[in-house]
Amino acid sequence: MTKSFGKTQALKEINLDIADSEFIAILGPSGCGKTTLLRIVGGFIEPTSGIVSLNDQIYSGDGHMVPVEERDLGMVFQSFALWPHMTVRQHVEFPLKSPRHKGMSEKEKKEAVENAINCTGLKPYADRLPGELSGGQRQRVALARAIVGRPSILLMDEPLSALDAELKIEMRREIQNIHKLTGATILYVTHDQSEALAMADRIIIMKDGAVEQIGTPREIYMEPQTVFAATFVSRCNLIKGSWNEDSFKVDQENVMLHSSTVPWEFRNKGLYPVRPEQLLISPEGQGMPGIIANKQYNGREIHYSVQYHDQILTVYSSSQTEFDPGDRVSITLTA
Ligand code: ATP
Repeated sequence: MTKSFGKTQALKEINLDIADSEFIAILGPSGCGKTTLLRIVGGFIEPTSGIVSLNDQIYSGDGHMVPVEERDLGMVFQSFALWPHMTVRQHVEFPLKSPRHKGMSEKEKKEAVENAINCTGLKPYADRLPGELSGGQRQRVALARAIVGRPSILLMDEPLSALDAELKIEMRREIQNIHKLTGATILYVTHDQSEALAMADRIIIMKDGAVEQIGTPREIYMEPQTVFAATFVSRCNLIKGSWNEDSFKVDQENVMLHSSTVPWEFRNKGLYPVRPEQLLISPEGQGMPGIIANKQYNGREIHYSVQYHDQILTVYSSSQTEFDPGDRVSITLTA
């Protein structure tokens, strides 16, 4: 599937297969096409070419365009517009008035509303107006409204970005809980990599309108396939040198590293990717020489910035031995 707006090619060639009940995070920098992809699935815009289908039903493309209200999906967006004169319960009841739910009896509707209210922890606030709710509670109303019709798919576009750090963490748990309880497939757009790593079954990393890498959080973290994927998700050191088969000669040092799994893009660019916890620092000895430039205590581990030739390497160390800025150290890879 592709999408162009005039000369802007917002989506290049996107081919995705998403399984039932999967939690998919769509992660990428501003302007990479995340929202466009979500809006196409939601039916707000048409793809320029290709199709979107749910099971065997074509939603968009091939001459079809199923209207938004007839699609089997619920949506939660960043800005949660609530009506000031309607209570929490009335907000949650509202989606069931759509013709799509005309098959439900009044009793079933009532149960669905109570379920959605319970599952988002809103029971104590059900009769309050939006003006009497906190930001997190308002976002829960948006969640309850999205799940009340039991949609097969939930589309979420940066739903937590307006919340403060602590509330974000709490709402992450809430969303994971809702995923478990409803069994819905979730497409979750974010530019926050920790959100994606924490919640998703699979992460789609996008860049410039194309998919850069798809994988489980562990695969994305441990086996990034490109320099962009490695550095966009968490910290990654890129040591410079030259590859010869599976051996890597570090620039300006008599140090050899070995790997059969480093992907071709790193090899072509003369780089060896290493996560901060895969580096060890010890008092001067064998290895790559460095000078501690910065030290940050972080509870379980210490985060060091180490000057190494013209590079700063990041090292997370849980060792008992501590180093201070200015100390000369040597850097090696963990086994
Ligand atoms: P952000 O994280 O900033 O929301 P995004 O990854 O969601 O970014 P999109 O909103 O999907 O990015 O936009 C992708 C590209 O398409 C951008 O270059 C954007 O300017 C362009 N674009 C999006 N919508 C339109 C539109 N209606 N008309 C013209 N160009 C558009």
